[in-house]
Amino acid sequence: MLVDEYIPIIGKGPVEELKLLAEKLSGKVITNINSTAMGGGVAEILNRAIPLLNELGVLAKWEVISGSAEFFVVTKKFHNALQGAHVNITDEELDVFLENNKINVEQMDLSGDIIFIHDPQPLALIEKKKEFKNKWIWRCHIDTHAPDRRLWRFLREYVEMYDAAVFSSPGFAQELPINKFLITPSIDPLSLKNKELSKETIDSVLEKYDIKKNKPIVTQISRFDRFKDPIGVIEAYKLVKKSVDCQLILAGGTAVDDPEGTEVLSEVQERVAGYPDIHVLQLETPADIEVNALQRASTIILQKSLKEGFGLTVSEAMWKEKPVIASAVGGITFQITHDYNGLLTRTIEGTAYSIKELLCNPGYAKRLGRNAKEFAKQNLLMTRHMRDYLLLFLSLYHPEEVAHL
Ligand code: UDP
Repeated sequence: MLVDEYIPIIGKGPVEELKLLAEKLSGKVITNINSTAMGGGVAEILNRAIPLLNELGVLAKWEVISGSAEFFVVTKKFHNALQGAHVNITDEELDVFLENNKINVEQMDLSGDIIFIHDPQPLALIEKKKEFKNKWIWRCHIDTHAPDRRLWRFLREYVEMYDAAVFSSPGFAQELPINKFLITPSIDPLSLKNKELSKETIDSVLEKYDIKKNKPIVTQISRFDRFKDPIGVIEAYKLVKKSVDCQLILAGGTAVDDPEGTEVLSEVQERVAGYPDIHVLQLETPADIEVNALQRASTIILQKSLKEGFGLTVSEAMWKEKPVIASAVGGITFQITHDYNGLLTRTIEGTAYSIKELLCNPGYAKRLGRNAKEFAKQNLLMTRHMRDYLLLFLSLYHPEEVAHL
């Protein structure tokens, strides 16, 4: 059984506990709904969580809402506004959002025992709840600690219709009259993205992209999104490069629900002209082995986000025992304790300073990486995440026993 493959990593006890919890949900159908099958952290988690839950005997399904290009432009604006960007969303755009949700309501099977909605794009499907009288959960994966108030007021009316809301950090949880839960995301140590790789596989990926093996590699892997601050990464690298020789990899793919990627990518390409040691890679989606290999080949992993719901790229790097330098924002601060299992920074200059510090002190970098792996093992693995989800599902049937946020 696949689930037993986690025993060598986390031990027998936690795996047995998962099986026991899953048994209590026997016969319940749990339908997960989000807005993209590929690209970004939510799809990444669902791709692994659904088979694992099924393996445990829970009838988990996954459906993706459909939407016009206009809808995804609007929901990307929602995403930016919820993460605090100054975005003007018109009444017509709110209508595009509602209309698209209405179309999906008619097309989707929403009869499962638990409907588990991920992020704002499918939020308004909740209108169907009265028809089925089933349980609905809204899982917010983004950094909502300072959302655009007008948009939040609009969305809150829908959130309040849910039985429960889940956030990745206490700071993201808004005032709500429903049960709120804190559940951090996770990575799967058995996935192609995270499993051990042979040296040959890693080397072949470096060769494919013309990356030198004998020069330190600093890497950020992220969608080309302004909140990931690829331009800030390039500026930090340029400061480092004045005194310490190294290469920079900026690798990213696209997501169906993220229409801004092309524009950000061309800005990035303009900024790197004349720097042969900067490698801007456009990865296929999925490119799990390549991402895995690039992370493993790196001397340092960066995540210089300006806002971050959680930052699975940070978790992935920590699991691979890499020293991570990341911004002190959002879910990253849950993962990294400065100077213990990684370094937190706030500015381009601070990032450059930290890169130089680690490149010049390999022993220190190694110690941070070792602590990162241990932290990841205790906190960031899918088995812990699924335990939290199973308890959440069970709690819906025992609301009086819930201690929530
Ligand atoms: N990712 C990928 N290919 C890319 C860029 C990102 O596979 O070109 C993966 C990355 O490894 C991680 C996920 O997409 O698993 C991104 O999740 P994260 O939480 O870091 O950011 P999000 O995109 O959800 O904001």
